[in-house]
Amino acid sequence: MSEEHKLSMSIDIEKLTKTYDSFAALDDVSLSIKSGEFLSLLGSSGSGKTTLLMALAGFVRPDAGSIRFGGREMIFEPPHKRDVGMMFQSYALFPHMNVFQNVAYPLKLRGYKRADIRQRVEQALATVELDHLIERGITEMSGGQRQRIALARAIVFEPKILLMDEPLSALDKRLRETMQLELRRLHERLGMTVVYVTHDQREALTMSDRIAVMSKGRIRQIDTPVNLYERPANRFIAEFVGESSCLPITLQGGQALFQGRALRGANAAGGLKNPSLVVRPEKLQFVPAEASDYNLLRGHVADVIFQGESQLVQIDLGEGMSVAIRRPTNSSEGNRLPARGDAVVLGLHVQDTLLVGDDQ
Ligand code: ADP
Ligand code: MG
Repeated sequence: MSEEHKLSMSIDIEKLTKTYDSFAALDDVSLSIKSGEFLSLLGSSGSGKTTLLMALAGFVRPDAGSIRFGGREMIFEPPHKRDVGMMFQSYALFPHMNVFQNVAYPLKLRGYKRADIRQRVEQALATVELDHLIERGITEMSGGQRQRIALARAIVFEPKILLMDEPLSALDKRLRETMQLELRRLHERLGMTVVYVTHDQREALTMSDRIAVMSKGRIRQIDTPVNLYERPANRFIAEFVGESSCLPITLQGGQALFQGRALRGANAAGGLKNPSLVVRPEKLQFVPAEASDYNLLRGHVADVIFQGESQLVQIDLGEGMSVAIRRPTNSSEGNRLPARGDAVVLGLHVQDTLLVGDDQ
């Protein structure tokens, strides 16, 4: 792993289509990934993430479209000529081989010389901090260690592109969160282009430079974590990324109203299909009845849920609508928490007032 040489490659995907019988697993997918970028494909199960990753790796042959690495067409290149490292949810390590042999495997496949192999394997294992276990058997390793070995194997031949398909989903929460930060640091250090598949929106927000949200074989929005969270393009994204309630609004002469009052600071609702107000639990505050700078939502406390570091207060807004508001447990008003049934006024800052429409 020569750290002076940050080697990476751009990926340009154009109008990629893959159908199984008449079912479109990929439906006209176009996406450009910058050289050195960490891009996540985020979507629920069956949305086409793995199919797209396998098309990049060369294990799935698309029906139509183009995949270029560094400007060069890859569609007809076999997997071993694509210079991509891969890591999967199941470690896919060889149980009958020891750590060294597992990590050396891709190098042997590519015809590296024996001495070169030894040195590169040692370096890759040092990168994942397992060089002291080089002669151990795979079955003696914990889940976290196995995942690191799989990572060492994916990067040992210094691929310019690293593809990862839910690599952490078999690990428990604590280890998963540690590995998320480790993978991020590794990417910063080695600088290869990463395409990372996950169904976990928090993981995608934590790790990525940009996130492409997929559903039904299509990319619904692609943006930075902050923009995706703060400016979801539509209701589907607003509800999929982070917690949110989408509250139906009414329109009067182009003006958006909620509970009969004009929403200040809102984006234009014209052109939105079934426009609704996006409300996230941490954007709401309990406010006095006439707070300036806030749009007000009036309701009654339905429930107060203790969640450790925070409390989630469920508010019934009438007409079948409800929202949740999140407050830190150590809040100074902690002792004056509203009780079930209390009438409350919630403030949503005008700058946080966002309307979205249904996905068209
Ligand atoms: P994800 O990784 O987002 O869960 P996949 O890319 O694995 O989704 O699958 C997308 C859709 O394509 C799913 O509905 C899946 O059943 C279908 N699919 C994937 N591979 C095949 C295959 N080899 N044959 C038939 N259908 C497939
Ligand atoms: Mg998958």
